[in-house]
Amino acid sequence: MKKNSYLASIVLGAFFLSHTAWAEVNFKIQQLSNNLHVLYGQGGNIAISTGKDGIYIVDDQFAKLSDDIKKQINELQPGAPEFVINTHHHGDHTGGNENFAQAGSHVIAHNNVYNRLKTKHGDDSKYLPVISFSKDLTLHFNGEQAHLWHFAHAHTDGDAVIFYKTANVVHMGDIFFNLDSLPFVDVDSGGSLDGVIYAVRATLERIDNDTKVIPGHGPVTNKQGLAQYKRLLENAKLLMQTSIQAHKTLEEVLENKPLEPLKLNYSGWLPQSRVTELFYRSLQEQAHKH
Ligand SMILES: [Zn+2]
Repeated sequence: MKKNSYLASIVLGAFFLSHTAWAEVNFKIQQLSNNLHVLYGQGGNIAISTGKDGIYIVDDQFAKLSDDIKKQINELQPGAPEFVINTHHHGDHTGGNENFAQAGSHVIAHNNVYNRLKTKHGDDSKYLPVISFSKDLTLHFNGEQAHLWHFAHAHTDGDAVIFYKTANVVHMGDIFFNLDSLPFVDVDSGGSLDGVIYAVRATLERIDNDTKVIPGHGPVTNKQGLAQYKRLLENAKLLMQTSIQAHKTLEEVLENKPLEPLKLNYSGWLPQSRVTELFYRSLQEQAHKH
């Protein structure tokens, strides 16, 4: 628990710093299988697949880190990645797209990621995926079947969870914040709390007790860790719903501090009030749809 909170403060601290000042980044590589590693740096966790066909990665953190990330990849296997998969459009997961594309990588992401990156970077930008998909896509590479499964309206409206069949690993992107804290639900980019809970449940149904689970932020965990996160989300939702029923307006709910009983740590960029507001908006939007 202590160790997790410590790691959480490092990871979230690094994430927060990225928006304010540039700090020295300490990269760390963890082996998950013969062919698959996770790279912790600054921003979203990167999965690296190496093998006979070449290299591909999931997410690429920030543009300023691309050279360092390439060095880290080169230590596992020399060469530029053939593919870069984006779990969603946020800048701490797609910031390196242009640099990797210039090195010859082909970016793959959901259609909504394509559209959001096009709005942000323009029609001809190298940030854009060259392969995009709607529901799912399977990459057959390095003796691995990587199944990209889209979850609509979860962390954003363009999330993909990547299931590695041979390695028995799953990369969940920011649907999973493994930091003993509540996730950022990007309601303004089509995200929803119910969608996050649905995606977590669906992933749990598909994995087993040996599966290694890569979160968007925080350390790699397992099915048990993900199940614990699911219970936390369900508890948070229940507390929010109870408060909304009793207090109605956002101002009243914020004053009521419904998430307080969970006794979680919050970071500077995602304080309890912001989480409460995003969950409130998500649950209210949901209610109006029915
Ligand atoms: Zn994100």
